[in-house]
Amino acid sequence: MTRLVILGKQGAGKGTQCALLVDHYGIPHISTGDMLRAAVAEGTELGLKAKEVMEAGDLVSDDLILGIVQERLAQPDVDSGFLLDGFPRTDAQAQGLTEMLAPAGIDVAIDIEVPDDVVTQRMLARGRDDDSPEAIKRRLELYQAETAPLLDFYSSRGILLSVDGLGTEKEVQDRIVDAIESRR
Ligand code: ADP
Repeated sequence: MTRLVILGKQGAGKGTQCALLVDHYGIPHISTGDMLRAAVAEGTELGLKAKEVMEAGDLVSDDLILGIVQERLAQPDVDSGFLLDGFPRTDAQAQGLTEMLAPAGIDVAIDIEVPDDVVTQRMLARGRDDDSPEAIKRRLELYQAETAPLLDFYSSRGILLSVDGLGTEKEVQDRIVDAIESRR
């Protein structure tokens, strides 16, 4: 069983690495961003609540997020493990996840390290609807304030794996898989 969390700021190449990792390990990809965008597209109650928050680059409330993740982790396909992407993003979410998975936990939290100027250029280049310059700036600020402290949270538990995110997709992928395997 492989239970992974992927951290790293927006534009760090998480999307690409997630696709490669779920393929490599044969585990489901659980992206809170994708789930929220699907809810917005379908116009569900969750989607209506999340839409404006997402457009502003702000964080959807911990309660809503913990609810959708808990529901998702109750599905049978996660028995083989999972890759959580975009979650946890706050201390409350990390605590909530620990409780949900207790007494086991995740195996590894992967941090893909890329400097701010590089991720900003990448985000502007991909041109997603919620990638306005203001929203990008806001998301990077929130990452520093809310998500970066999670690196300490996982590091103090001895399960943080920091990987240099510069280089080709394949190079970054090899670094991640090698680091995961060297811990087993
Ligand atoms: P990005 O990595 O570019 O921010 P995501 O797809 O992970 O993209 O998330 C898009 C938006 O969805 C975020 O800006 C935020 O508004 C919301 N979101 C996703 N995951 C979470 C989360 N764990 N907690 C709060 N909000 C979230």
